[in-house]
Amino acid sequence: MTLGTSLSLKGAGFRYPNSQSDVLCGLDIDIRAGEWVSILGSNGSGKSTLLKLFNALLIPTQGICLVDGLSACDAESVWSVRSKVSLVFQNPEDQIVASVVEEDTAFGPENLGLSSEEIRARVENALRTVGLWPQRKKPVSVLSGGQKQRLALAGALAISPRCLLLDEATSMLDPMARKEFLDIIKREHAEGMTIVQVTHRLEEITAADRVIVVEKGSLLWSGSPSEFFTQPQGLFSSIGFIRPPLAVLCDELAGHGVLPKGILPDIDRIREALCL
Ligand code: ADP
Repeated sequence: MTLGTSLSLKGAGFRYPNSQSDVLCGLDIDIRAGEWVSILGSNGSGKSTLLKLFNALLIPTQGICLVDGLSACDAESVWSVRSKVSLVFQNPEDQIVASVVEEDTAFGPENLGLSSEEIRARVENALRTVGLWPQRKKPVSVLSGGQKQRLALAGALAISPRCLLLDEATSMLDPMARKEFLDIIKREHAEGMTIVQVTHRLEEITAADRVIVVEKGSLLWSGSPSEFFTQPQGLFSSIGFIRPPLAVLCDELAGHGVLPKGILPDIDRIREALCL
């Protein structure tokens, strides 16, 4: 069982050097150890920047970021923070650094200065977790897009983190590869890993404990996935979505007492309720 890590932003803001305005401002967010939080927001609202605060790739220019109570702003905590919190980007090519599968996975643990025995064990564990152990000797160039993203995930897991940050990590994957990737994330979460996931796919937030909506660098809304789907169209419009027709139908059916109020939109549940 992984003991997840807690993340906290207190009055956090961020402004890129040479920029005239803040990208993030006044953010107060507490994420419990082991929680799965999905972050939604339109392009440019600051989601990627927010994730980078959580693993100390960026340091807040106002307020603080705490990872398991350690300040990610302190130079002496940065390595400790990065060993607890791993980031997976949208494009695996941005993250893959070696030409052979097992060498790529070893990169993170090698940088932590671990013994070669420990590095081997972590590489095997990470590649088995993502289902790429049989491909360990293969050149990265022969992997499919889905396998490459699972390799990027193996690299993130090989540092034995307690939190995974996913920055639209499934957006370049086909439906099958997306499912395979998310199944691994669900297993890690079930084992206690904290998950913070930026996504543009509403179907992916149903696995989350909580949804956070950001707009122009501020917190616009926060609640459970089922509460999210009952929100008015205005909230969906603010992040560039239409409210899913299935959610609208669930509301209608709840209004007629056919379904309980506030459930996640689920076609099977609707079929069952309507005896279809
Ligand atoms: P999102 O992930 O929600 O699309 P980002 O965090 O990537 O948003 O970006 C938020 C804002 O910060 C955007 O206006 C973007 O142009 C700006 N930005 C992102 N990276 C940099 C950078 N390295 N330097 C200056 N501005 C940046």
